[in-house]
Amino acid sequence: MARAIILMGGNVGDVKSRLQSAQRLINRNVGPVMRCSHRYTSPAWGFDSDEFSNQVVEVDTDLQPEALLDALQGIEQELGRDRTAEAAEKARTGARYSSRKIDLDILFYDDEVIRTERLTVPHPLIPAREFVLVPLCEWMRDYRHPVEGKTIGELLDVLNKKNGNEKA
Ligand code: ATP
Ligand code: CA
Ligand code: CA
Repeated sequence: MARAIILMGGNVGDVKSRLQSAQRLINRNVGPVMRCSHRYTSPAWGFDSDEFSNQVVEVDTDLQPEALLDALQGIEQELGRDRTAEAAEKARTGARYSSRKIDLDILFYDDEVIRTERLTVPHPLIPAREFVLVPLCEWMRDYRHPVEGKTIGELLDVLNKKNGNEKA
């Protein structure tokens, strides 16, 4: 049994109910959801579009990391994520990111460090994303990131200082 931390996000249509559906499907297909953060909204990150909603869940799972990714991608598909449309949007806008109904990322898988063709865990952009660090802080403020060597709370402080300096 492993403890996986999943980021759920989206910015198209009724995201609130889609996040609820995603949580239900994670509970059914991945394992029992033990904790769930509040839902946070924030401006789109890295491209110009509608605001995003994000939520973090903790799940106990017997799935190995790649099987977990398969299960999450299956849920994304079931909830209407259309990667062909996303590719077309990226080609049109030239941006790295596109609008999506639902996105499920593996943030942590126990304390494991995984780098395969399909999977980088912990998710490499955790330290750069306030919309990930803030919900994680609800119950993992003191959790030490296995690669960065800092706690989630410390990573958020570093990011806030950096953003503050940029704004100054
Ligand atoms: P970002 O990772 O910057 O948030 P994204 O979520 O928009 O980007 P996607 O298009 O959803 O990226 O996924 C692209 C690929 O990322 C997936 O096909 C998957 O193989 C890979 N990937 C690597 N590490 C992870 C991870 N920790 N969680 C989910 N997908 C991952
Ligand atoms: Ca993502
Ligand atoms: Ca993703």
